[in-house]
Amino acid sequence: MTIPRIYLDYAATTPLDKRVLAAMMPFFSDHFGNPSSIHFYGQQAEAALERSRDIIAALLGVHPDEIVFTSGGTESDNLAIRGSAFARREKLGCRRILTTRVEHHAVYHTVEQLAELHGFEVEFLPVDSVGKVDPDDLRKSILKDVALVSIIFANNEIGTINPVRELGEICREHGVPFHTDAVQAAAHLPIDVNTLALDMVSIGAHKFYGPKGVGALYIQKGIERMPVQTGGGQEFNLRAGTQNVPYIVGMAESFSLAQSTHSERSARNRKLRDNLIEGVLDRVPRAKLTGHPVDRLPNHASFVFEGVDGNRLLMLLDAAGFACSSGSACKVGDPKPSDVLKAIGLPDEWALGSLRVTLGSGTTQEEIDAFLEVLPRLVQNAQTR
Ligand SMILES: *Cc1c(COP(=O)(O)O)cnc(C)c1O
Repeated sequence: MTIPRIYLDYAATTPLDKRVLAAMMPFFSDHFGNPSSIHFYGQQAEAALERSRDIIAALLGVHPDEIVFTSGGTESDNLAIRGSAFARREKLGCRRILTTRVEHHAVYHTVEQLAELHGFEVEFLPVDSVGKVDPDDLRKSILKDVALVSIIFANNEIGTINPVRELGEICREHGVPFHTDAVQAAAHLPIDVNTLALDMVSIGAHKFYGPKGVGALYIQKGIERMPVQTGGGQEFNLRAGTQNVPYIVGMAESFSLAQSTHSERSARNRKLRDNLIEGVLDRVPRAKLTGHPVDRLPNHASFVFEGVDGNRLLMLLDAAGFACSSGSACKVGDPKPSDVLKAIGLPDEWALGSLRVTLGSGTTQEEIDAFLEVLPRLVQNAQTR
């Protein structure tokens, strides 16, 4: 007998929306041209590319020339951080980077390398027990000599949403570029770049029912920049390489669907999510919600269980048909608490027993009920002592 499979890991990735696939299909074969070519085939591909750029720019409230297509959220983060850090050091001598210890590894390991190999000084702003940055801490640390500030919009592990508008405004007052990783946020929240005072924003399509391997970076005109990947002159000389036209078309379609439906989807997700959180905290002893109880992604629930082996719990859940995550990429056999859970001050006995449950378009109340039915027993079976 095959067990029914229940997917509760939408923060890791989402299934491609059928409408998005339909929009992409013609660009694999019929309209296969290279957008840089002069001829008809090239023009057709270029028109689709620029239409996609217009759609994404309009949704963010920015100029199309400020959108650079990349291979995903990770590359967008790298381009934003490396591209502006190197350029601002070259032109202005800035060598300090301000960030946090709750960033996605695409940011964290990038700034780490800039510090270790390239002579940048990285300063980590404190976060509170739910992983939020206090704008006053940014105000205390920011000076004109800062190359850039990079702070995550909504946390992938613990769901907390940062006060990005206040953070962006402080950066603006000091003339320092503000980058935010909005890869999770873009799937659920309106990303109005102007009211939020953002200078660089990373997004990735596969978190909002688009294809994997494609993303975009919004980079405001006037921000010092340099390419990270060199070669041809594509993407305003900022990202060399022939653009992946079908995937870019898919990203525009999926972002458009995500942004136009976010309020209905959020209301639905929030209801299911709150039932889930309440159920878990009621039924499982020694359980804690991680991240902010209210200012969090609407589809996101994350917990820690004291004295539990989080990896073992995930395997037991998988065997019972439930696909969840610990929230971080920790290795089996070498259990280390995640950097994010350490940064919010959780001791190892708690941090090693983490569980992230993220909901999406396919999630139903019946699935949540089934999950709540099995979880207490599985948590007990995953106790380390
Ligand atoms: C998924 C994710 C990324 C990485 O995006 P990819 O498109 O998978 O490279 C970066 N930041 C956050 C917050 C994410 O959730």
